[in-house]
Amino acid sequence: MTGSATHAADVEWRRDQALRAAVIDGCRRLVREGLIVGTAGNVSVRRDTDRFFVSPTGTPYDALRSDDVALVDLDGRWRGGRRPSSEWRIHRDLYRARPEVAAIVHTHSREATALACTGRGIPAFHYMVAAAGGEDVRCAPYRTFGTQALSEAALAALTGRRACLLANHGVLCVGSDLEATLGLAAEIEDLAENSRIALGLGNVAVLTAAQMREVFDRFATYGRQDDADPDLIRITDPPPGTREEPR
Ligand code: 13P
Ligand code: ZN
Repeated sequence: MTGSATHAADVEWRRDQALRAAVIDGCRRLVREGLIVGTAGNVSVRRDTDRFFVSPTGTPYDALRSDDVALVDLDGRWRGGRRPSSEWRIHRDLYRARPEVAAIVHTHSREATALACTGRGIPAFHYMVAAAGGEDVRCAPYRTFGTQALSEAALAALTGRRACLLANHGVLCVGSDLEATLGLAAEIEDLAENSRIALGLGNVAVLTAAQMREVFDRFATYGRQDDADPDLIRITDPPPGTREEPR
């Protein structure tokens, strides 16, 4: 190999190691946050158009080493120290069907899974349901874990969404980066818990499609420093008596 080819291979190896480490860190974070217990759930990240790194099947996450994280292609061919997650078909089918997806997180988090066991999703009882990309979080019908049938049901429930529930099973979240997808898994758990409390109290006015459209309009600029609000006037002079510089 020439010097530049060696360098390129080195860069690629480092990038792959970083992706494997991100999968392991993601699994451990889900355990720390109480969203995963035991070996339930799985995490993957896209490597390129037709390959992804996915957590191994049935392996306690504290024992994971980076070489355990398998690289799987769209034909189901894999390499690595341990067999990929039993849900590799869900990951494969999502990476194939959704080019914008770069990370996938599956959990059996407590509240969301309890709700999924009723076969119901999360309606727009709170505006933050918008975090999943639409006006509700659907629940895919029950199918046996690890099957192509479950993958197809999950993909349908995720149409136009970044999260869905899986009946009698758990939660599935997708995103354009792992950090956001892990955050979404926590958000879905929070929404499921809140919805149980709110719907249990009764008289919840579920938001209408028009109200949710307004939420999406707001989210288009939410949190941005250039978010224009005609009633908000920035004062840049330091307050009298101080020498503080505005940020
Ligand atoms: P794996 O350990 O094979 O990833 O399976 C866990 C799971 O959640 C199956 O749905
Ligand atoms: Zn599962």
